Order: sequence, then structure tokens, then C-alpha cells
Amino acid sequence: MTDFNENDLWQAVQDRNADYDGRFYYGVMTTGVFCRPSCPSRGAKRENVRFFTKPSEAEAAGLRPCLRCHPLQDNPTSVLMTEAAHYIEGHADESISLSRLSNEFGLSATHLQKSFKRQHGISPKEYQNAHRLKKLKDALKSGDDISGAIYEAGYGSVSRVYEQVDGRIGMTLSAYRDGGKGEKIAYVIRNTALGPIIMAATNRGVCFIHFGNDENILLSLLSKEYPQAELLPSSAVDTPELALWVEALDHHLSHNAPRPDIPLHLNGTAFQMRVWRFLMSVPEGEVKSYSEVAQAIGSPKAIRAAATACTVNNIAILIPCHRVLRSDGSLGGYRWGLARKRTLIDQERNNISNSA
Ligand SMILES: [Zn+2]
Repeated sequence: MTDFNENDLWQAVQDRNADYDGRFYYGVMTTGVFCRPSCPSRGAKRENVRFFTKPSEAEAAGLRPCLRCHPLQDNPTSVLMTEAAHYIEGHADESISLSRLSNEFGLSATHLQKSFKRQHGISPKEYQNAHRLKKLKDALKSGDDISGAIYEAGYGSVSRVYEQVDGRIGMTLSAYRDGGKGEKIAYVIRNTALGPIIMAATNRGVCFIHFGNDENILLSLLSKEYPQAELLPSSAVDTPELALWVEALDHHLSHNAPRPDIPLHLNGTAFQMRVWRFLMSVPEGEVKSYSEVAQAIGSPKAIRAAATACTVNNIAILIPCHRVLRSDGSLGGYRWGLARKRTLIDQERNNISNSA
């Protein structure tokens, strides 16, 4: 241990600093275990700790390798990333920020995000969303009651919709340009208080909610948006969650139930997604002008583009483009008719004043 003094090493252990992995190991003499500096286990006291340059030295001192950080394995990050995935599964109903994971596993947020993506192919947030969806499906298949299943899977808190907006996934632009080629899209059609509605979802979340006069029109709207995708009625595929979501949406529209917490699969340009994400953060009962939207997403001059992004929104209600008005307070446009827009705004204002 010529390069470092022990205070530095102890500091690295306390910081669980992965930069020191492979450069030294520490043993906890009271437990008989030795670890990498980044080991997520905690609680060793300084006086019980000894430092080693190589695992063989620790073993010679009678210590055995830790089962959490696997100091004998070559690639500690991959072990940590497996643990991170388990951690997310174990806390799927909580809000798991990158900084929380970064604290838990002793890696910088950037390093963690990159390593996780390299190993699992998706970001930690996407992993959590996918896991919740799987849990929900499993619970529904095993016959759990609907609201229990929602909570069990970590959905069901309306506030969480807003927290997790940034974690929502967008279809890659190329897939979008290809008209959804290779995507399987399940859909369900239902009558609501505001008229017939179609809801469609990929395996990552809801990508399409439109109002329309009848089933044929609704289906043609969907196939126009995704000409290359395989469109399947929900009843024909394994998507119990879709029936559940459209029911929750109907309750929201008919009985003023809270807006359901539903994973979304956004499809659009980066600019459009910025607009939509901002819209999802506008609280119920509030309205914004197109110029306020442009300002809020950091492009104050792009008022017309912001208005267009509202116009091409494919996810009615859940991306609340109905909350955007002209700056003179007039309704502006609405893809699904001004009467619906008026109703939605009035309903939300009533909800707020009733609950105040
Ligand atoms: Zn360890």
C-alpha cells in the first residue's frame, strides 16, 4: 500500500468509490469478509478494517470474498448492475431516481446510467416501468382484483404521473417514421361520457387515445398513424392492462376519478416531446397559453411550433393539450372538437373548486 495512505483508502470505502475498485480491497476482521471499495454493504467500523493490495493477501489473512461485491470477479460493474436491477424490482412501487441508485451503488449517476444501459439495454427508469407492467399483468392473470393489482404493481398514485414524466419512453424516430413497422399495437374501443374512444398501446405503454364517432373511424385513425404496425384487438392478445386502463380513463371522464397513472409511449420529435412533457406537468384546473408553453420549454419564439405540437398530440386527456388556450383566453383549437375541450376545462375547474 505504498501509493495511498490509509486515510484516503478509508475515505474511498466510506464513499464507496468505484474508481478505487481493483486498486485495493478491504477486509472487515470482525465478519471475516473482504470487499471492493465500492461494495454497497455498509457498517464496518474503522478499527475493524484492514486494507490489502490483492485479493490473495486478504485470503492469506483468513478472509473470504464478500457475496455482495464479489471481489474475486473481473467485472464488478456488471455484478453491481445485476444488483441494481434486483434493487429496482424490489422497490418498483417507489420513485427511484438516478441519484438514489447512485448513492445505493456507489457509482456516479452518469456511470451508473451508462453501465446499466450497456448491461440491460434500457435505462433504470425504463427497467422500472417494464417491471411494473409485468407485475401488473401477472397480478391480473392470477385473478387479483383490479385496484389491488394496480397498487401492487406500483401504479395508482396520480402524483407519480408527474414525477415520472421524464422516464417515459419515446419510440425511436426511425421506428416512428416507418409507421410503427415491427410494432405490435393492441387497441380497445369503448364508449365514454365524452363519446367513443380508442386506446392503443405498444408493449411499453399507451401510444394512442382518440375520440371519434364510431368504431370504423377510430380504427382508421389508428391505422393511418401506424400503417406498418400490426394492430390487434386487446381481446385477442395478452393485454389485460389495456382493458383496465381504458376503464380507468372512462371513470376519470365520467365520475371525475383522478386521472389514471398509465405508462405512456410517446412518439414524436424531440421538440414535440418537450411540449407534451410540459403539458403533463400542468396541474388539473389550470390553463396555459401557447406562448407560455413555448416559454416553459425554453423556446419562447416557437409559439407556432408549440401550438402544432398540441395539434398533433395523439394521446388525448393523458397528455392534456386541452389545457392550452390562446393568449386572449379564447379556446383556440382542439383536435377532438371545441365542445369537448370546453367540457374538459370546465370539469377540471369544478373538480378543483369542489375539492378546495
Ligand atoms: Zn462486499
